[in-house]
Amino acid sequence: MTFSKDVFQDKRALVTGATQGIGAAIANRLAALGAHVTAVGLDHGDGSLDPGVQVRTADVSRGQDIDTLFQDIGELDIVVNCAGIIRRGAEHDPAVFEQVLAVNLTGTMRVCTAARERLKPRSGCIVNIASMLSFFGGSLVPAYSASKGGVAQLTKSLALAYAVDGIRVNAVAPGWIATPLTQALQDDPTRSGPILSRTPLGRWGTPKDVAEAVAFLCTPAAAFMTGVILPVDGGYLVA
Ligand code: NAP
Repeated sequence: MTFSKDVFQDKRALVTGATQGIGAAIANRLAALGAHVTAVGLDHGDGSLDPGVQVRTADVSRGQDIDTLFQDIGELDIVVNCAGIIRRGAEHDPAVFEQVLAVNLTGTMRVCTAARERLKPRSGCIVNIASMLSFFGGSLVPAYSASKGGVAQLTKSLALAYAVDGIRVNAVAPGWIATPLTQALQDDPTRSGPILSRTPLGRWGTPKDVAEAVAFLCTPAAAFMTGVILPVDGGYLVA
């Protein structure tokens, strides 16, 4: 156990994009550390969530869905924006570009805006999910990279804006993590080979690797950290 198992006792957390993959691992980790967790996804997911986690459906790209979701959400200590999509190869189409931005970037902003008043009474915190593509370009994914570059910049701006309310805003930037989103890459040796050979720690990351870093940013150990984009990448960024 990395953290004391009651470090988030009595804390209330909302995690978007939490019905599978990295978001589900984050929701489960926060719950295992004592938090009451609401997980949000487009549907009820693939069964990865622990029984104690409450599931709500909402599309973060739809303002009406976010308004409805927050109608029954009270005060919060932790918000994690993990909802994200990628449309490899199709993102040069402006309509697809807009769709990816609407989920990954505007969706994150919508949830942060709605959550601010819920976080303020508890001096809560937000963790956004950035990417290696917050730092690099990607010829097949101009929308995904623009959105994740935007998430990094948004994180810094909201850290400045929300500090007056005692709310910390940070991001983690996962490296190459084995989830359904990267299944096509994992299955193609010509693409997974170069990824692994550039990753100094020599393996795909796991959703749990990311969940541990998110948990850290939500603990009192990170009380003086805000506006940080924390890579969780096995060293990929510096290789
Ligand atoms: P994933 O397995 O595809 O999971 C994506 C999650 O987002 C699912 O729970 C999905 O819900 C939800 N979602 C998608 N569109 C949504 C919407 N419009 N509204 C609400 N929820 C929505 O992806 P992942 O690999 O875990 O990625 C999670 C996050 O980490 C994303 O932001 C991604 O960009 C980021 N990331 C991933 C990697 C990686 O290597 N995997 C690396 C860097 C960053 P449903 O299942 O209900 O559709």
